Amino acid sequence: MEKISIIVPCYNEEESAPLFYKETEKVRMQDFPEIEFEYIFVDDGSKDKTLEEIKKISQENENVKYISFSRNFGKEAAMLAGLDVSTGDYITLMDADLQDPPSLLRKMYEMIKNEGYDCIATRRITRKGEPPIRSFFARCFYKLINHISDVEMVDGARDFRLMTRQMVDNIISMREYNRFSKGLFSFVGFKTKWIEYENVERVAGKTKWSFWKLFKYAIEGITAFSTAPLIFSSFIGLLFCLIAFLLIIFIIVKTLVYGDPTSGWPSMVCIIVFVSGVQLFSLGIIGQYLSKTYLEVKHRPTYIIKEKN
Ligand code: UDP
Ligand code: MG
Repeated sequence: MEKISIIVPCYNEEESAPLFYKETEKVRMQDFPEIEFEYIFVDDGSKDKTLEEIKKISQENENVKYISFSRNFGKEAAMLAGLDVSTGDYITLMDADLQDPPSLLRKMYEMIKNEGYDCIATRRITRKGEPPIRSFFARCFYKLINHISDVEMVDGARDFRLMTRQMVDNIISMREYNRFSKGLFSFVGFKTKWIEYENVERVAGKTKWSFWKLFKYAIEGITAFSTAPLIFSSFIGLLFCLIAFLLIIFIIVKTLVYGDPTSGWPSMVCIIVFVSGVQLFSLGIIGQYLSKTYLEVKHRPTYIIKEKN
């Protein structure tokens, strides 16, 4: 019998997790009579009763595994932990809040089976129910990253996707500490088909992503998949050298021709402030890469498991 692993990262999802299981089981009984499901709930250091809830589900149902982290390590870590322990022939990542409709699973499974794809990925075509400012920055991020990175990232792409064992094995073989899955999925290649659906609002609870968290995640994505900012800062450096060189020639000529009445103090201050700003900005970019490298070479684990079954 074939098996599908369903990985569900949960952070403070005490209400959503049981609902998710109920809904998805319904889909399994209806659409997948011939296939075994394996649920892997990953409790990402929740502060509410999520762990109790998923423990209860796993005690009552044989096809449910759970993993609980020692603290909140983030969704990326939770997804990796789930992928690490999954044993299915096909693997899917789904949010606990039912924003990834389980009803799509059959269609996705059939596409992989019959059309020879390795991965069926989903993207939402609307960002309904999201603050406009968040959508705006998300759009900017995708425009930017696709310009400066060789790896293609699709706007509106969700983490919800059904993948073959082979693809997942390749993803988990990459043990980098700074994980940006949307890039990693794309990096490993394989034949991917995109399907679209309308954004669904979460069933219960609140979103776990603050603007600041998303911003940091975006920086992660950029530094993990592009070195263009480094080139950009070198370019700015070069440009300023050139400008300075031209100015020096200009001043020498001007002094030779008109003598040297001391002036230009305010403009000098402006230039110094501006140029030091640019320098600090470039240093900041280098610092970003250096800090990522620093975290990477420490080889700390991406997650720590406190308890599992
Ligand atoms: N999540 C997680 N760890 C975190 C933040 C989120 O495991 O630190 C999980 C969360 O429980 C949910 C999924 O990631 O199952 C997506 O989060 P959310 O629905 O809050 O994000 P949104 O759909 O608003 O982008
Ligand atoms: Mg959600």
